[in-house]
Amino acid sequence: RAKSAGGNRFELADPEADARAITRHGLTTALPAALERGEFFIEYQPLVHLGDGRVHGAEALVRWSHPQHGVLGPDHFIPLAEHTGLIVPLGRWVLQEAVRQARSWHEQADRDRSAPPLRINVNLSPTQLHHPGLVADTVDVLERSGLPPGALCLEVTESALIGADEDLLKPLRQLAEMGVDIALDDFGTGYSNLANLRRLPVSVLKLDRSFTQGMQQHPADPVDRKIVEGIVSLAHSLELAVTVEGVETGVQAEQLRQLGCDTAQGWYYARPGPPDRLHTLSLADAV
Ligand code: C2E
Ligand code: MG
Ligand code: MG
Ligand code: MG
Repeated sequence: RAKSAGGNRFELADPEADARAITRHGLTTALPAALERGEFFIEYQPLVHLGDGRVHGAEALVRWSHPQHGVLGPDHFIPLAEHTGLIVPLGRWVLQEAVRQARSWHEQADRDRSAPPLRINVNLSPTQLHHPGLVADTVDVLERSGLPPGALCLEVTESALIGADEDLLKPLRQLAEMGVDIALDDFGTGYSNLANLRRLPVSVLKLDRSFTQGMQQHPADPVDRKIVEGIVSLAHSLELAVTVEGVETGVQAEQLRQLGCDTAQGWYYARPGPPDRLHTLSLADAV
């Protein structure tokens, strides 16, 4: 904000921007201790089959229970953790915790003999992708938990893989060969070359929420429908499954189902929440 005084124009710092910078700085320096003190926790959001509405897994979404600011969503601290490198130990913790949780759902499913074993999706940020320990850490977490690799899906954003060279893809390829699914998150926002998809070791496309929003009117804009139809048909021809994000209404769910999307995630089904609810949800649709 510019202010003039005594005829001389000079810039006064924006007090709100200052406050934000101070908060950011405070959060950044508090991150390592927060991890040690166990202030992070994970919420789980169900992924459902569009065909029959059954829960088939969940995405792990990290939160920070900050002693002064209350519960903070990932957008408030993941970029900071990325910047400082704390994302590596934090991401390892999320993976370990989410995989342990999935293993416990599998054990419950064995006992109940009714609920299907749920799959778990975990987000990876670009720094984690570049970290040399990624494959070893993942193998270690899976082995110690006893969760089959096929029950884990790692989500990488489309933008993190744009222009990725073989060095970057190699760890993902290794994980995919072990049976871990790799999903391309927020697909459709990154302007990636569609032909490039063939070269990536991915098995799932997560269509960005902006496409879901375009399905709110019924019938949806014909161009929007054609775009989704085209992506789905391309994905299926490459043997990729299509998940849609941000489904908030039945109108969206029905139109996306008709366009051939395989699975969905969003508030229409459930908000992210505590892990115990997932098993109950999947038992409920098994009846
Ligand atoms: P994402 O992976 O694309 O996750 C989906 C986001 O959409 C989540 O936001 C989720 O709460 C939100 N969402 C789900 N359903 C709906 C809906 O129907 N409508 C709307 N408007 N939103 C919906 P959240 O939890 O705030 O996470 C934001 C992003 O933070 C995630 O986007 C992901 O990129 C990142 N993130 C979350 N957890 C982790 C993590 O453990 N590690 C890393 N590296 N990133 C994470
Ligand atoms: Mg995700
Ligand atoms: Mg996403
Ligand atoms: Mg998203």
